[in-house]
Amino acid sequence: MTSPAETTIQTVTGPITSAELGRTLMHEHLAIGYPGWEAATDEPFDRAEAVRVCVDHVESLKDLGYSSMIDPCPNDLGRDIELMVAVAEATGFNIICASGLYKEHEGGHAHWAFRSRFEDVSAVMTDLFVAELTDGIGSTGVRPGIIKVGTGLNDLTSHEAAVFAAAASAASATGTPITTHTEDGTLGDRQQAVLTEAGVDAHRIVIGHSCGSTDLDYHLRIANGGSYLGFDRFGIPSVSDDERAASLARLVSAGAGDRIVVSHDSVWCWKGNPWPVALRGRIAEQFVPTRFDTEIIPKLTELGVTDEAIHRLTHDNPRNYFEGAPLPGL
Ligand SMILES: [Zn+2]
Repeated sequence: MTSPAETTIQTVTGPITSAELGRTLMHEHLAIGYPGWEAATDEPFDRAEAVRVCVDHVESLKDLGYSSMIDPCPNDLGRDIELMVAVAEATGFNIICASGLYKEHEGGHAHWAFRSRFEDVSAVMTDLFVAELTDGIGSTGVRPGIIKVGTGLNDLTSHEAAVFAAAASAASATGTPITTHTEDGTLGDRQQAVLTEAGVDAHRIVIGHSCGSTDLDYHLRIANGGSYLGFDRFGIPSVSDDERAASLARLVSAGAGDRIVVSHDSVWCWKGNPWPVALRGRIAEQFVPTRFDTEIIPKLTELGVTDEAIHRLTHDNPRNYFEGAPLPGL
């Protein structure tokens, strides 16, 4: 597919052109903290150590030929802009951060529930997202390059509906693309419908964690609707990587190879580490952002996916998504 036009993409260290994006992972996290993480005062967040851990991961990605990643941590999940800037400056890597809010169940719902007693919170959220996208986040001057929204398992709550409406308004006002969280491969088609009915072009949406489902019909509904599917949880055992790779290969065979993006949803550092101490070593081994290259590409090759189709997943598709190239029906 030819790109309509080179476009500007905001990274945490300033704008780049879409031609500079290069090989890109679409969903990894330098750090997250579940709302309430501040309670873990016995384990204060050590940002210097976090920078060291994140720089190591980024260097391993650079060794594999990557030059860019999205950290779609929403506003209410411990998003740490200073950490992202420090790591980007230390490595020269393009890190794209997000505006937006997380799903109700694991996001900062309490704040918005309080505010909703007095005013239209969706309008407040819209103003917040637009301010971040145009003027920068807080006093950092850093502008997000993407908007994050999410839903829980089989349920789009009224809070999440307010977030989706605000994200759609902010996307339309600023021309920013959207990426989503789906829970266990549910509601991606519903997310697509809600956002497109609110005026967002389908091809400006990544339905994240689509690989949480192995249902080809579900995948094809999203693909036919003209959005990108995130196969972005390689290494997370809710679905095996063999099943994820097989689903990805089926979609490529069905002609949807131009609308799949890949990643791991790996989390490199935790604020208020919620894992039991005995599990942390195993979690750190599981959450690495290099698995697609070391383990998944060989599986895809075995399944008959061509090198060209594999190249498209990390290179052409992220660029087309940011450039806003329309995706035709299959
Ligand atoms: Zn994530």
